[in-house]
Amino acid sequence: MDYRTYLRQYPDSNGYYGEFGGVHLPPELVPAFEEITEAYNTICHSAQFISELRRIRKQFQGRPTPVYHCERLSGKIGTCQIYLKREDLNHTGAHKLNHCMGEGLLARYMGKKRIIAETGAGQHGVALATAAAFFGLECEVHMGEVDIAKQAPNVTRMKMLGAKVVPVSHGLKSLKEAVDSAFESYLKNYRDSIYCIGSVVGPHPFPQMVRDFQMCIGEEAREQFLEMTGILPDAVCACVGGGSNSAGMFAPFLNDPVKIYGVEPLGKGTQLGQHAASITYGEKGVLHGFESIMLKDKDGEPAPVHSIASGLDYPSVGPEHAFWHQQGRVNYVTATDDEAVDAFFKLSRYEGIIPALESSHAIAYAMKLAREMKTGAILVNCSGRGDKDVDYVAEHYGYGDDHTFKD
Ligand SMILES: *Cc1c(COP(=O)(O)O)cnc(C)c1O
Repeated sequence: MDYRTYLRQYPDSNGYYGEFGGVHLPPELVPAFEEITEAYNTICHSAQFISELRRIRKQFQGRPTPVYHCERLSGKIGTCQIYLKREDLNHTGAHKLNHCMGEGLLARYMGKKRIIAETGAGQHGVALATAAAFFGLECEVHMGEVDIAKQAPNVTRMKMLGAKVVPVSHGLKSLKEAVDSAFESYLKNYRDSIYCIGSVVGPHPFPQMVRDFQMCIGEEAREQFLEMTGILPDAVCACVGGGSNSAGMFAPFLNDPVKIYGVEPLGKGTQLGQHAASITYGEKGVLHGFESIMLKDKDGEPAPVHSIASGLDYPSVGPEHAFWHQQGRVNYVTATDDEAVDAFFKLSRYEGIIPALESSHAIAYAMKLAREMKTGAILVNCSGRGDKDVDYVAEHYGYGDDHTFKD
């Protein structure tokens, strides 16, 4: 079965991947999401939409991004070969722009004048503000006051790109409150606005739409790897926060004889509150309008989470990942903060590529896997560049000089 056959079957017409997904929203918000579903289902088949998105990817984003063979890193470990899909070279330095440009183009086709979103660490906000500037749309990003203080450079970037950053000052003043605030604004403004979610999460059609827009990663990488080596990789690997870069990487390989690994952040350890490994330690539940696997506290509320990578600290995961996990098609594994930092230093020193701390989780697991596999090849998605993380790493871990390079 071609993976396109799978794509036609999942999600079903109600937005479900097996028992996960759907639309779990207050009734007054349902029509707004139905409008988006209808528009997307029409537009994604339009030749004009597809060719315009293709042109944007090539001329504005710099796609296709290359696949790169990490010969020095692989050699330090053994004989298994590690390859990177270089999403760090996508415009703005990460994969997030792939779906933001798609969502922006959809907004323009729907005749909307404004895009509304929330952001945690500010990465999604910056990518969306970039798309809004490109399309000439207004952009309203809701952000908790705590996050605004922590992520000053991203707030500056958003403002520079012309976005309006709306500070959220109630509750914990963080991501959850920002989501509520953005939903509220969308409810008031949905006639002339569109809501843009930052990963393969949220109510249908976002998990599907974001996956489809991110699938350029896996489609390009599969073709590029085949062209470089003549065969498919033995394993494919990506980090999983909400699950967008991994879903885009994995989907085109679903029906290939390739092992697939989704790497979740194990943070400081296995205790609740120390990590954000939602599939590994979570249970079924509903959060932010969709049903999936999530981390809950003893009262059944979303549990506090931690990861050194702010893009990975989300207490749930896209419903399609929950489905792939249940089907046994994708192996969900973990990497700790320390393992991610080790990979961050090694890729920087051995290859001249400073990866995002999020991506470093995937690289850390690939290094472990390479040691076990001994032969063959692993294709890893390097979801973003680490410029945003160098100050934090230097302050807490130094420069890698006295780093114990174990290999
Ligand atoms: C946001 C982010 C992630 C995590 O998001 P997913 O939806 O799980 O892909 C990973 N890497 C980078 C560089 C990010 O900015």
